[in-house]
Amino acid sequence: MPEKLIFEMSAEGRKGYTLPKLDVPAKKVSDLIPKGFVRSKSPILPEVSENEVMRHFVALSRMNHHLDKGFYPLGSCTMKYNPKINEAVCRLDGFAGIHPLQDEEDVQGALELMYYLSQHLCEITGLKTATLQPAAGAHGELTGMMLIRAYHENLGNPRKKVLLPDSAHGTNPASAVISGYEPVQIHSNEKGLIDMDDLKANLDEDVAALMLTNPNTLGLFESRIQEIKSLLDKVGALLYMDGANLNALLGIVRPGDFGVDVLHINLHKTFSTPHGGGGPGSGPVAVSHRLIDFLPAPVIKKEGAQYILDFNRPKSIGKVFTFFGNFGVMVRAFTYIRMLGAGGLVKVSKNALLNANYLLEKLKPYFDLPYQTRPMHEFVLSGDRQKKLGVKTSDMAKRLLDFGVHAPTIYFPSIVHEAIMIEPTDTESKEALDEFADMMIRIAKEVETEPDLVKNSPVTTPVSRLDEAGAARNLKIRWTPESAG
Ligand SMILES: *Cc1c(COP(=O)(O)O)cnc(C)c1O
Repeated sequence: MPEKLIFEMSAEGRKGYTLPKLDVPAKKVSDLIPKGFVRSKSPILPEVSENEVMRHFVALSRMNHHLDKGFYPLGSCTMKYNPKINEAVCRLDGFAGIHPLQDEEDVQGALELMYYLSQHLCEITGLKTATLQPAAGAHGELTGMMLIRAYHENLGNPRKKVLLPDSAHGTNPASAVISGYEPVQIHSNEKGLIDMDDLKANLDEDVAALMLTNPNTLGLFESRIQEIKSLLDKVGALLYMDGANLNALLGIVRPGDFGVDVLHINLHKTFSTPHGGGGPGSGPVAVSHRLIDFLPAPVIKKEGAQYILDFNRPKSIGKVFTFFGNFGVMVRAFTYIRMLGAGGLVKVSKNALLNANYLLEKLKPYFDLPYQTRPMHEFVLSGDRQKKLGVKTSDMAKRLLDFGVHAPTIYFPSIVHEAIMIEPTDTESKEALDEFADMMIRIAKEVETEPDLVKNSPVTTPVSRLDEAGAARNLKIRWTPESAG
């Protein structure tokens, strides 16, 4: 290993602190803590100096890839740069120091922020009301599907099926199933959009909703969305939109205007809060007027100059999260929205579209492009041409690591062979895009001239090819004296 574990650096008696001498009578631990809570053995902790701790973690941060280090074109994940002002604001004492059990009167500022964040999200999406409780996109989907179920139940029949295009994000069918629905797959046509005939063939009064990502996971806008909406209306089915790709739409089109009933938004993608590595995230759900009554309690309301938490909601699906959601993420997203304003947000999406289309034009001659429809904020290439020469998409992704960038999303969506899904985001300069295009083109050429170089990559990273299946099945993430041998 290029960097030792902090336990392996430990030396007995070494300390990372300097404290003044004890100037009060010493007490035994057992006098201070009830007996049952006192541990019998000291915990095993590394003994290291402050200097060693600092260098250790800086070394680890260099081994890891992150947005402050380099380009991160991970399709569908919107790994845009996270402005540091967001962090500064959410660390303000008035935000960081409050407790969710404080009385409403004492946290009016926090409630005001949440109230206006919901309002801004509604203005951006064209929907009526939003809940900020869900902790991530997938959690927002589950909440949204529970709302749809509650809506149909209220009309007397929860219905049975949820339709999902074959390009859907994997979390969509999972959310439908957990909400008690049978997922039904709808095919994509040769343009990469919903096959309208297949949709019509599967629509009946057992369908609770269509779950649609728009732009879809190929980065393509479902241009027949209004027609889709009227087909759903005819059988009383609702339109759920996975809004994780909202980075393509800000200020350009509002999902509420094309008839969406429920939409989840990933604050940690579109609104620039740090994500990856498991959270925390925030997946607000915005709804049309039809679903307001069912929203999770409490809903934040404004009465005169006061912000109040309204728990009196008899038709609510209940609570979907402890307290009110991941507040720190909301403060960051709110800061981002207010900093940019309406004009700035439009530019975000226009730049996201421009960057993706610019990069696609540069890469198109070197890779296969299965769907010719012009993309929005991301695009999906195929590594089929390279596969025929014996080099897989995963090999090319590994080779990219040698150049110090994060690899794109690969093998998703599954309707594209050897998929390479690239989302450059709005925050990259033309120079950064050119540099990345040069890397991809160089790799495409290496596949023809030096395929083994690509197949044996990466060579510049701290570790090379890992046993990925073994790592997933035989996970060891905890150091113990026994494991150290
Ligand atoms: C990221 C994403 C999700 C899931 O969001 P999480 O916050 O990771 O749970 C759902 N759908 C799409 C299209 C996404 O890109």
